[in-house]
Amino acid sequence: MAAHSDVPHQKSSLRKEIERRRTFAIISHPDAGKTTLTEKLLLFGGAINLAGAVKARKASRHATSDWMSIEQERGISVTSSVMKFEYRDYEINLLDTPGHEDFSEDTYRVLTAVDSVIMVIDSVKGVETQTRKLMEVCRMRNTPIITFINKLDREGMAPLDILGDIEEKLQVECAPLSWPIGMGKLFRGTYNLYRKELNLFTPGSDRVEDVRTIRDVNDPALDKALGRQAEELRDDLALLEGAANPFELEHYLRANQTPVFFGSAVNNFGVRELLDAFVEIAPAPRPREAVSRTVAPEEEAFSGFVFKIQANMDPSHRDRLAFLRVCSGKFERGMKMRHHRIGKDVTAANPVIFMAQERALAEEAWPGDIVGLYNHGTIKIGDTFSEKEPLKFTGIPSFAPEHFRRVRLQTPLKAKQLQKGLLQLTEEGAVQLFRPLARNDYILGAVGVLQFDVTIARLKAEYGVDADYEPVNFGLARWVTCDDPKRLAEFQKVNQNQLALDGEGNLAFLAEGEWLLKYVGEKWPEIVFHTTRELR
Ligand code: GDP
Repeated sequence: MAAHSDVPHQKSSLRKEIERRRTFAIISHPDAGKTTLTEKLLLFGGAINLAGAVKARKASRHATSDWMSIEQERGISVTSSVMKFEYRDYEINLLDTPGHEDFSEDTYRVLTAVDSVIMVIDSVKGVETQTRKLMEVCRMRNTPIITFINKLDREGMAPLDILGDIEEKLQVECAPLSWPIGMGKLFRGTYNLYRKELNLFTPGSDRVEDVRTIRDVNDPALDKALGRQAEELRDDLALLEGAANPFELEHYLRANQTPVFFGSAVNNFGVRELLDAFVEIAPAPRPREAVSRTVAPEEEAFSGFVFKIQANMDPSHRDRLAFLRVCSGKFERGMKMRHHRIGKDVTAANPVIFMAQERALAEEAWPGDIVGLYNHGTIKIGDTFSEKEPLKFTGIPSFAPEHFRRVRLQTPLKAKQLQKGLLQLTEEGAVQLFRPLARNDYILGAVGVLQFDVTIARLKAEYGVDADYEPVNFGLARWVTCDDPKRLAEFQKVNQNQLALDGEGNLAFLAEGEWLLKYVGEKWPEIVFHTTRELR
């Protein structure tokens, strides 16, 4: 009988835990202020109590790219890959999107494991390239995005021009929820359009913002607070009435519209306003597509998928940490779960959970949470774990690399070791291996170039293989498929020199640049060129 009465209780605590969870990532171009904003969010969440903690980590990440610092960096990035913190009643998981030299396929793939995104735009520079690329990944799953326009304490683009830039370059409608008053030296703060509150800016302030409720913008209190700039704000707001889109929660959740906030992260300004709106409107863990059906987070049976693998910092241990996102039910330490790809039950013996500055043993986890599982290479990116039902979550792809190198072995006797090392290292998902059809070569492809150095260093340290690189004349890769096997065979024959098999034996087209892809694409209309590939 006891078991019976436990069921509704279990259900409601599951629902409660889901509703209070927010799992997200911050996307931006380098230097827009992602690290600064992350730090401020963690400060508000009480997860760190010292400004500078996140910054210090970033600084050490940038030092050099010699082996020691790569080692160090990997260790550091394990702990900073996922940052958990609480804010009000919410449990927040912030997933790091490595952005500078450490930009890699992981950066893209992390976005497949979040429910929403905060996009940081530098008000001086507007939309930049990396933001565009990351936005394309968000679009694949219609991930809702809240925009934070940063650095209002500097002379930047006019607010309406920034919104126009976002709408044009990112093809998403903007709905300002706050509006800046002046900028640069004349920056006075923002007016919150839905709360009807004036947030006054004090440069360099670390205290909670000076917030005043002013329901009616014709209130003389506004003139008292802003002086001449009150009139400017009134004009702006009148203009916005006609020009800006009203915020619609549904449009945001369907990723057709992005609500926009303005602020200055380094000055602590606009961050609480952003965080308050984020917890209120950003979606809780959402249902997730599997091959056989859609899995709802409220389902009692546990399920989750792996979106990232990270090698242990200590090279003498070959174990790796797999990052699993919980999709449904409750995860518990010591539970048995089915590893479907290899068809075996495994026990989650020492799962870890990631706090802002440390890892801890995970006793339990709920949908939206990220759990780290130690393994010796049995877990791959894209793997699904669940209690019983054979599930395979989709939408955790491999992304087409943007940089290529040919691997040159220095010690010919180590050919076998090289092959083994490359296969194992590429399974971690930061670099991809291609074997050209026409030559007996190893071509590595990566989304960020630092991964090439990491791979050479690890080949030596972990596999005792001395190798280096030769440049190759490839600048893009596309996986190819064709419904007509005969046509595909013809295509292969004619384009031998541009074709390779990836680590899992899938056919890929490698080209110098877009022009060749376009040319070949026009000649072979039956061939489909894919920028992503579902992992098996
Ligand atoms: P990331 O590369 O996106 O992580 O950017 P960082 O957070 O490291 O910021 C890049 C630079 O911009 C740093 O020097 C920050 O101090 C500075 N920065 C961040 N936010 C602001 C801001 O609101 N105003 C100004 N003036 N500088 C800022």
